Amino acid sequence: MYDPRMRRQALELLNEGRPVAEVNRRTGIPTTTLYNWRKNLSAQFDRVLPMCPLCHDRPVDETAYSYLLGLYLGDGHIAHAPGDKGVFRLEIACSDVWPGLIDACADALSTVMPGLKVGRRACPGCTNVGAYSKHWPCLFPQHGPGMKHTRKIELAPWQRTVVDRHGREFVRGLIHSDGCRTTNRVRRPGKDGDRSYEYPRYFFSNASDDIRKLYTDALDALGIAWKQNNARNISVARAEAVARLDEFVGPKY
Ligand SMILES: [Zn+2]
Repeated sequence: MYDPRMRRQALELLNEGRPVAEVNRRTGIPTTTLYNWRKNLSAQFDRVLPMCPLCHDRPVDETAYSYLLGLYLGDGHIAHAPGDKGVFRLEIACSDVWPGLIDACADALSTVMPGLKVGRRACPGCTNVGAYSKHWPCLFPQHGPGMKHTRKIELAPWQRTVVDRHGREFVRGLIHSDGCRTTNRVRRPGKDGDRSYEYPRYFFSNASDDIRKLYTDALDALGIAWKQNNARNISVARAEAVARLDEFVGPKY
């Protein structure tokens, strides 16, 4: 066996044209393995790119991760891949009404795990954006049996750090999955005829108490006022609070 973190370095050395013996000396990877890799270097690079930020010490793009975490907590799920072998498929259900958000989701996935093949699976009214990896449970330790609202959802300390640093992206992801921005139009009679007023507001709706708490905690940290609208629904309605959300969320697209 060899240290999997050496794999990338070995591929880079082979790619530079270094002799197998030298690469073996520098990485500890057996020469027979190196000869095999050298036969098809580009396929090996494809396999090594999606290294796990947790298992392989690869820095993760925190902005993209924070957004993706919001999407995952809203509309994502992780399941064993067919044939399994420790591989999981992460899928985020995106409504077909907002094609821009489908692209934003796919972008976030490939930024968080570069090199993974991101697929789009059509369902009635929605597109499931997803990819296969052994490491989804590392990236989303909230993965577990049953629906998210039937179990405790807690952020791991490293996720907490990311969300604290990138609260806007996290809120954006949550609203893009389980929220919306609506405009109430109201007509009032005036002395020069009817006048209409518009009241934009944001709603966020999720069955999990824990996920709603993550959302309102993130709003609190950003200084954005919110109100419990009903048991499962959080509303942001004050003009200045809506204006703050408009700076980084805005209508779905
Ligand atoms: Zn991992």
